[in-house]
Amino acid sequence: MSRPYALVLHGGAGARRSRSYEAEIAHMAEVATRARDRLAAGASALDVVCEVVVGLEDSGLYVAGCGASPNLAGAFELDASIMTGPERRAGAVAALQGFRNPILCARAVMERTPHVMLAGEGAALFAADQGLEPIADEAAWYTKAGAGEDNHPPGTLSHGTVGCVALDTAGRLAAATSTAGVFGKMAGRVGDTPIPAAGTWADGHVAVSGTGQGEYFIRTAACAQVSWRVASGQSLDEAARAALGEIEAMGGNGGLIGVDREGNITHPFNSQGMKRAWVTREGEVGVDVFGI
Ligand code: ASP
Repeated sequence: MSRPYALVLHGGAGARRSRSYEAEIAHMAEVATRARDRLAAGASALDVVCEVVVGLEDSGLYVAGCGASPNLAGAFELDASIMTGPERRAGAVAALQGFRNPILCARAVMERTPHVMLAGEGAALFAADQGLEPIADEAAWYTKAGAGEDNHPPGTLSHGTVGCVALDTAGRLAAATSTAGVFGKMAGRVGDTPIPAAGTWADGHVAVSGTGQGEYFIRTAACAQVSWRVASGQSLDEAARAALGEIEAMGGNGGLIGVDREGNITHPFNSQGMKRAWVTREGEVGVDVFGI
């Protein structure tokens, strides 16, 4: 019997009931279907999560890649990370400016440096050195997805991010997450997204990606916590809901997507909605924003 594969992607847990998300729903279904075909053909979880996140970054429909929103100083500082199991290899960039796909830079950090995270100017120098595509005209590139979404007063930690987790037919797990961070963030603010354990995690048990008020995800080690809970006997879904429960008890909101090594998936959230799509181990594709 062939080994199972499964995948979940998210386009952020900042969805508002006052808006419709038809374009995002159609796009996520298309991306998930393509990802299913890649996994079915034997592609690695690492390649697939990376391709999915590049597709989400390039769409301009989410608050990542060209859909990024600026910080309070008017600069576009982007965060991303990628991780793969069972070895827990990880790469990340924080406050990266001037490059089209932060997730590709995070992957290059993982694969081509002895480090886990590069930040700011050093990350940009590394991206240039790796030949990653620079943004020629920032004003034209960024479509400001978040700006049109609703009112996002600075300091409210309103948010949007993209991420993907996958199990491949070789039994490997991978997770990737990319964001412009919360709306109205201070210059230099770094959230959970580039921090392994907080916003992204993959090991031999699970792959998890978070979206929400990153400060809470950092304080709860939200994504790694899901793995620790699974290792101690909880189901993936129980573990993700319990981690989110800790965030909620602290006053935070957001969502988590996860897959375990059996191909079980979960995608709980405690905000109004979370843009997301999934591929079950039976190969079925689903997509939703507000339904639990
Ligand atoms: N977690 C991200 C951050 O705090 C934002 C988001 O997920 O929308 O930077």
